[in-house]
Amino acid sequence: MTLSKQLFEMAKALLPGGVNSPVRAFDPYPFFVKGGRGSRIFDVDGKEYVDFCLAYGALILGHAHPSVVNRIKEQLDQGIHFGAPSEFEVKLSEKIVKHIPCAEMVRFTNSGMEATSSAVRLARAYTGREKILMFDGCYHGAHDQFLFDKNGAKSPGVPKELAKTTLVCEFNDIESVERAADGNELAAIIVEPAMGNMGCIPPEKEFLRGLREICDKSGALLIFDEVITGFRLSLGGAQAYYKVVPDLATFGKIIGGGFPIGAFAGKREMMQKVAPAGKVYHAGTFCGHTIAMIAGLSTIEEIEKNGVIEKATAIAARICNFLKKESEFTVNRVGPMFQIFFTRNEVKSAEDARKSDRSRFMKFQGAMLSNGVFVPPSQFECWFTSSAHDRFDLERVESAIMASLSGVGDER
Ligand code: PMP
Repeated sequence: MTLSKQLFEMAKALLPGGVNSPVRAFDPYPFFVKGGRGSRIFDVDGKEYVDFCLAYGALILGHAHPSVVNRIKEQLDQGIHFGAPSEFEVKLSEKIVKHIPCAEMVRFTNSGMEATSSAVRLARAYTGREKILMFDGCYHGAHDQFLFDKNGAKSPGVPKELAKTTLVCEFNDIESVERAADGNELAAIIVEPAMGNMGCIPPEKEFLRGLREICDKSGALLIFDEVITGFRLSLGGAQAYYKVVPDLATFGKIIGGGFPIGAFAGKREMMQKVAPAGKVYHAGTFCGHTIAMIAGLSTIEEIEKNGVIEKATAIAARICNFLKKESEFTVNRVGPMFQIFFTRNEVKSAEDARKSDRSRFMKFQGAMLSNGVFVPPSQFECWFTSSAHDRFDLERVESAIMASLSGVGDER
């Protein structure tokens, strides 16, 4: 029995489902990680994989990047976290304000979920309204008010009352949003500007612009959830990439360089309402954590200097072209994130994504793993590339794709 299997058996008795976040559990058992370097991740059984999960998009420089690791090591000897302000949170917020079009002020949180729920609280306080509108298939963290899809609450335990204040529309369907905004006083529309939690689904050309107009007309705030897209699609996030500026935006993943983090940012007049400048409450023991700030800061400095996003995008484009050449399935890509959907139809919405063959995807994912490539274990996640992926990884992934597609019976 492999050590991973043994650990998973033990974990199942101790941790619900054997993991600490549901997507990590997959059949027959997940590999247990020992470490990672650059584009590669190693398991406790001595196997090595090319990593396209990268902590679900948190690591755009790959694993253990020396500039990040060295800066952290320097700090560790001097203490880890203090609950008092440090220069690093000033410097990291300066970077966010410099690059992100909507950001005039920033508040750091511990997770993406905390960032989205705080941004919504701020939007409610600012507008004096209660309803929010989100999109079927978008994910904004495991907070009660976001655990909805078009069929209602996605989890037992979510209060029924919340269905009255969280409205759900179809992504890329601007008319449904117009109708909802006409009939309701919305505090905010929250959206993943490019969807990364239903596989990869790009916005249609006029969709984000349409949301901006509806918000301007109705007085709702537009919130871009850039937890995935921030510092991945461009230094200015999706809002610079698509040239649509929201009122507030939320961040996570890359801005913590691999450490737990989140942030919400936006126009000064709105952010000034956050405590202690204003009355909208938000607080946290670990907010602005010293090590997370340093890791995020060194990551963003690398992105600024070394063509990180361009490199990661070029690799993603090569792999997508290969997937399209070798299969007839739908491949959606936005910059350095993409997904292959096991369907031959276009995927423009959550409903389209749900029609793809998920069991075939899982067979493909399992075969890729056997061939030394770690792809996130769900049809509804994305592959993420980094600046650490190189032509050796490309060769390995291309031969793994050939072997794995034949195993799942592509009928070409
Ligand atoms: N928003 C988006 C778009 C996300 O992808 C995620 C997590 N994958 C979150 C919010 C929640 O972030 P966290 O897991 O850090 O709470």
